[in-house]
Parts: sequence; structure tokens; C-alpha cells
Amino acid sequence: MTLSKDIFCAIATNDAPALIIAENDLAVAFLDREPTTEGHVLIIPKRHADDILDISREEITAVMSLAQHVAIILRNILGYTSVILHQVNGVEAQDIRHFHLHVYGGPNKIQHYYQQFGSTDDLNKALLDTMKKMTQE
Ligand SMILES: [Zn+2]
Repeated sequence: MTLSKDIFCAIATNDAPALIIAENDLAVAFLDREPTTEGHVLIIPKRHADDILDISREEITAVMSLAQHVAIILRNILGYTSVILHQVNGVEAQDIRHFHLHVYGGPNKIQHYYQQFGSTDDLNKALLDTMKKMTQE
């Protein structure tokens, strides 16, 4: 297990900003800043875990519970007919060495959604709009 704090640990403790869609006691779901499609969410355990070999059964349950919640939002609010979950493990495969599950609508409704924005400000505005849509009651 890594002792130094990574960006996902910082998000879990509110020491780094994130556009949070949902959370429970053990896990948090927030918007990926480089979404493949609109509403692309990452779900992480709040406690640091390197990967699937390092996460507890209770944390997996908490992560998957949020994945189902996000899938319902993707279908009912953003209108996707398919939802994709993907998750990779291992030093070579992970960009950030903290367990994370990708959940996004598809299949490939808009390839690399984030690349359509001309500036970081435009992307940030779109991400904020997406969070508001996805967290409405
Ligand atoms: Zn971490």
C-alpha cells in the first residue's frame, strides 16, 4: 500500500476539489475531468486501496452500490441506453494508483466528449452543468 497521498485520497478527504455526484460512508462518485462521454464518473473507496487486490469486500459493495446509482442517472437523466463499467489493476495499467471504477454512458455516444471544448473554462462550465443535471432531485 502507498503511504503518500494521491489525488484520489485528497478528493476523498475534501483536500482536493471534485464535482461529486453521490457518496456513501465508504465510497465517493465524482465526474472524470477527461470524460469519454458526458457524465463519465469515477468511483473510489474513501480509504486508500491500490487496486482490486487491496480493497475490502465492504468497500467493493459500497463502490458497486454507487455504480448502480450512477447507472440509473445515466439512463434516466442523460438518456443513455447503455452503461459501461471499466476498471483496471496494476502499476502499468493504472494512471492513478488508487482503486477507481469508471462508469459512463455509451456505446460511444460522443467519442472523447471533453475534447469538443475549446478551453479549460468551457470544459469546467460544461462539467458543472453536467453535475447539476446529474444531482437534481
Ligand atoms: Zn489513494
